[in-house]
Amino acid sequence: MNSITTTRKAIQSGETTAKEVTENCFNLISQEPFNAFHEMWNDEKQAYLEGPLSGITVGVKDNIVTKVGTTTCGSKMLDGYRSPFNATVIDRLIASGATLVGKTNCDEFAMGSSTEHCAWGAVQNPWSTDRVPGGSSGGSAAAVAAGLCHVALGSDTGGSIRQPAALCGIVGYKPTYGLVSRYGLVAFASSLDQIGVFSRCVRDAAITTEVIAGFDPNDATSVEEEAPCLVESLDDSIAGIKIGVTRDFLTDRNDPEVNQAIEDAIKVYEQLGATIVDVSLPLTDVGVSTYYVIAPAEASSNLARYDGIRYGHRTDKVGLDLFDLYSHSRAEGFGDEVKRRILLGTYVLSSGYYDAYYNNALKVRRLISEEYASAFEQCDVILGPTTPTPAFKIGAKSNPISMYLCDVYTANTNIAGICGISIPCGFAKNDGKPLPIGMHLQGPAFSDAKLLQIAHAFEQATDFHNQHPEPIS
Ligand code: GLN
Repeated sequence: MNSITTTRKAIQSGETTAKEVTENCFNLISQEPFNAFHEMWNDEKQAYLEGPLSGITVGVKDNIVTKVGTTTCGSKMLDGYRSPFNATVIDRLIASGATLVGKTNCDEFAMGSSTEHCAWGAVQNPWSTDRVPGGSSGGSAAAVAAGLCHVALGSDTGGSIRQPAALCGIVGYKPTYGLVSRYGLVAFASSLDQIGVFSRCVRDAAITTEVIAGFDPNDATSVEEEAPCLVESLDDSIAGIKIGVTRDFLTDRNDPEVNQAIEDAIKVYEQLGATIVDVSLPLTDVGVSTYYVIAPAEASSNLARYDGIRYGHRTDKVGLDLFDLYSHSRAEGFGDEVKRRILLGTYVLSSGYYDAYYNNALKVRRLISEEYASAFEQCDVILGPTTPTPAFKIGAKSNPISMYLCDVYTANTNIAGICGISIPCGFAKNDGKPLPIGMHLQGPAFSDAKLLQIAHAFEQATDFHNQHPEPIS
């Protein structure tokens, strides 16, 4: 799969056409063995609008609403659900000429780190099909890694773009909260949710985000600003840029190959003229517990709408009173992980426990934001691993807590509402089947252009992003 820039040039020079490019993708998607896609939308009558993304193929995570096809959030609860409207990001992609190729599988309601909690089956990692692609946007990550589409949309509430990007060896970018409209993203935890992009290079993430970002009156948390210029400054030198490194990220909880890849990445930045500064983020360790109070609390409220009447699956059982209709419909429609989150969220919000859990989590949230703010007084971005380990085997993390710990380096980015990106920075050996390792860069809110510039500089100096799993045909 070529980059957006290369594909656009080939179309503009007449070497190929938008139709030919997209048909090639549909051909690959129809044969893909990874369960990356839930639906493919090959429309014979597709109009190829002229625009910056004309001929560019985009996979859409199954929790972003589209008028075409269904939006199921990987849940039986929404099996067959058709949205009457498009998410704002979808309208903007269509207006820019992009071809939406289909819906990608995800963990149910975006809850998970492996895309095993999907009602339509687990997704496989294209680098090693006995391993997970990460989650919850694992279908989007697998699709881009396997070259089935140029870019894909995901959502990131605690790491669901950056973690699967790391495990699949691609770029995953979570913009600053408020930069990209969430209108039409099915809500999980509204104060943390953010739409972002998977791509094979930083430039493609920048190009696509320029299209989808910018103020949207339909999203009350969208910032009243023009879409940022992200592409323009990509090639600027990073000499003198300050990169914060913290020992709180390079502990023995990580796989040694992950720590080595990050140490090597730091050297690359030094050679590029960046200054490495030591920063301290001791609250890294409480991020997961804070996240797993706030996110389930918001989820328990957001998911109350799936009652079998207003939305969602309705039980076939007859003669039930209203309460039993709700409870049977919800018991049948939701999977185990979603039920666990609803129970947890209802518990931490219940009277008697609210102060002990939810209110305290909000206080810690403030402390985490302040900790980042003081770290960013010393540096432009903070560098570390995206995940403690490379992709794990399907079925390996049946204990929910071990799954939750996958978010240790990513959840705090959402808690503070700042921007973060994962880019490929190495491989773990794994008996001749290399497994990608991701580097995580986090920047202050609305420093997205600089974050991408710093990520792009690393990419230009290294070759990791040019390595791909074996093609499917
Ligand atoms: N793994 C995290 C969770 O299960 C993050 C999910 C996400 O970012 N959507 O909640």
